[in-house]
Amino acid sequence: AIEIRDLRKRFGSLEVLKGISLTAGQGDIVAIIGGSGSGKSTLLRCINLLERPTSGEVAIQGETYRMRTSRHGDMEIADRRQVQRIRAHLGMVFQNFNLWPHRTVLENVIEVPIHVLGMKRDEAVHRAEKLLNRVGLGSQKSMYPGFLSGGQQQRAAIARVLAVDPLAMLFDEPTSALDPELVGEVLSVIRDLAAEQRTMMLVTHEMAFARDVASHVVFLREGVIEEQGPPDQIFGDPRSPYLKQFISSVA
Ligand code: ATP
Ligand code: MG
Repeated sequence: AIEIRDLRKRFGSLEVLKGISLTAGQGDIVAIIGGSGSGKSTLLRCINLLERPTSGEVAIQGETYRMRTSRHGDMEIADRRQVQRIRAHLGMVFQNFNLWPHRTVLENVIEVPIHVLGMKRDEAVHRAEKLLNRVGLGSQKSMYPGFLSGGQQQRAAIARVLAVDPLAMLFDEPTSALDPELVGEVLSVIRDLAAEQRTMMLVTHEMAFARDVASHVVFLREGVIEEQGPPDQIFGDPRSPYLKQFISSVA
C-alpha cells in the first residue's frame, strides 16, 4: 500500500501540493486526473522521492520515510539506504520512456536487477526475456531504444519496471507522448497488470481508460484534492463544478 498524509510541496513561494492525503491499498488502481499544473507529476515524484516533500508523510508498505528538515527548509531523508530500498520497490513509468539510449532493450531491463538487487546475470536475463515476451517485445530485445516505436519503447520501460517486481507502480501519463495509433498497445499492457492486483497510481488524460481500470479516481486542482471517488461517480455524477468542467473539456 501507498499512504500519503498531509503532503505539501513548495517550490520557492509557489505551493504546488497543499496537504494531500491519499491511500492506495494493495491491488488498488488509483487514477489521478486534473488540469495542467495541478500538481499530478509533483505528487508522483514526491512519492518516489524524485522530489523532496516540504512536509507530510509517505509510507510504502507500512514503512514511513524518515525525514528531517534540511537547512533549506525541505525534508531530507535521514537514511539513504531506505531511499534506495523504497525506490527499488516502486516502479515509475514516465511520459518519455526514459530508457538508457546506449543499451539494448534487454540490457535496460536487467540493469537494476543485477546492479541494485544483486541478481545473478543468468537469472536476470531469463526473467527479462519472459517479461519482454509478455509485453510483446521478444524479438526486439537486442535493439537499441532509438530504433523502436514510441509504443515499443514504453512497453520496454514497463518491462524494466516489472523486472524489480515492484510493490507498487507509478505511471505519469504513460501514453501522452505516443501517436494515437500506439496508445492502445500500451494501455492493454497496463490493463493486463491491473488484472494482476498490483497497486498502481496512474496519472492519465485517457478518461475512458481511467473509468474502466481505476478502482478510485482523484481529481486534483491547484494542489488540493477537489473531489475523489469511484470512477462511475466521478465520471457519471461529478459534484464539483470544476470537475464537471474538466470532464467536459477533455471528453
Ligand atoms: P501537466 O498535466 O502539465 O503534466 P502537472 O499536474 O503534472 O501538469 P506539475 O508538473 O506537478 O503539474 O507542476 C505543478 C506546478 O509546479 C506547476 O506550476 C509547475 O510549474 C511547478 N513546478 C513543477 N516542478 C517544478 C520545479 N522543479 N521548480 C519549480 N516549479 C515547479
Ligand atoms: Mg505532469
